[in-house]
Amino acid sequence: MPAFTAIFQSMPDAPPRTACPICGKAVVAEFRPFCSRRCTDIDLNRWLSGVYAVPVTEDEEEDERREEGGDAVN
Ligand SMILES: [Zn+2]
Repeated sequence: MPAFTAIFQSMPDAPPRTACPICGKAVVAEFRPFCSRRCTDIDLNRWLSGVYAVPVTEDEEEDERREEGGDAVN
């Protein structure tokens, strides 16, 4: 028996990804690859928070200037 046939036969009929990556529930076609709008938002928020998590150094500089320039007010 050819090897590839054995591979095909031994393959479990694993269904395509039908579980929501957020909560593991069944995926709804409308919100694919998620199960609901809520999980879509959760994933989006994770993504956005990662983007906006970049530290802003300009604010720190502004604070330092404010402290140093305290006696510069005339
Ligand atoms: Zn979900």
